[in-house]
Amino acid sequence: MSQSAPEYTLAAHPTTVGDARASTKPVRVTPTLVIGGHDVIVAAGPCSVEGYDMLLASARHVQAAGGTLLRGGAFKPRTSPYAFQGLGEEGLLLLASVREQTGMPIVTEVMDTRQVARVAQIADVLQVGARNMQNFPLLAELGRAGKPVLLKRGASARISELLLAAEYVIANGNERVILCERGIRTFETITRNTLDISAIPVLKAETHLPVIVDPSHAGGRADLVLPLALAAIAAGADGLIVEVHPDPSTARSDADQQLTFAQFTDLMHGISLIAAATNRAVRKPIPSPVVPNIATSDGAAMSHDTRRLAEETLAEETLAEETLAEETLAEETLAVVAA
Ligand code: PEP
Ligand code: MN
Repeated sequence: MSQSAPEYTLAAHPTTVGDARASTKPVRVTPTLVIGGHDVIVAAGPCSVEGYDMLLASARHVQAAGGTLLRGGAFKPRTSPYAFQGLGEEGLLLLASVREQTGMPIVTEVMDTRQVARVAQIADVLQVGARNMQNFPLLAELGRAGKPVLLKRGASARISELLLAAEYVIANGNERVILCERGIRTFETITRNTLDISAIPVLKAETHLPVIVDPSHAGGRADLVLPLALAAIAAGADGLIVEVHPDPSTARSDADQQLTFAQFTDLMHGISLIAAATNRAVRKPIPSPVVPNIATSDGAAMSHDTRRLAEETLAEETLAEETLAEETLAEETLAVVAA
């Protein structure tokens, strides 16, 4: 490869001539939803899945306001090991249950190669967080996961490094990669990160991959989310991923940056005006039929499928506990024989 050849070949545009937006290759998420098509899409929901009621309330509001995907972290990458780490498996089951209630596809983070198969069973889009952008074994595993990947730019990553990370997923067999600009670390301390607006047109021009923006983690402050979202859509982003919480002040993670429902409604209105000004529209959610549910003992509504999944998980856990008990017994027997 010569010095001037692009380092990334699979994500690169075959040509940079012409309208960059027209040559973005849309990524299909469900039979009725693509990201990177003509319309702007919005994913929104809480930073972390904290419980059933707050997740369902968030999903219903996001959907009513025009959001098409539900976000929510079950596995949370936290800077401090003492901070809330997410509900894990329980969070995944709650996401699945709320999807059955609302018909909203789910985007949620996967942090570890060992979680990929399980998270891919539940999620419609697998999110790679900024802290994991260069976790190469994880990226390679996601190449084989069979679900679209939302790849967030690392806080200190160059655009070329983001594209090489995308290349790992694509080269391992998965073309469905969506890039996400979520702010980078600069010398500025007033904002959590600095939203790199330039990255949007650069990524759109250099690759065929859809580009979305996370204005929540970029600014780290609820009051900055609207202006950053408007700027992102004006600059040509294919969509947004936004944090919304029924009561942000009580959120177990990222309380400062999550929007109230009313603020989210305002944001959706604002971006629809900017989308129209750039000859686009915000994609409307397709209403889905409500699936009949069975109430569980903890008050959460679960369908047959989710309940089956929960029961299987429980059965696996019981099996693991029994195996552990057997192993302990075997060790004890060994100790008695040796004595
Ligand atoms: C998130 O979206 O929940 C998140 C942790 O974001 P980031 O990886 O961009 O910090
Ligand atoms: Mn967050």
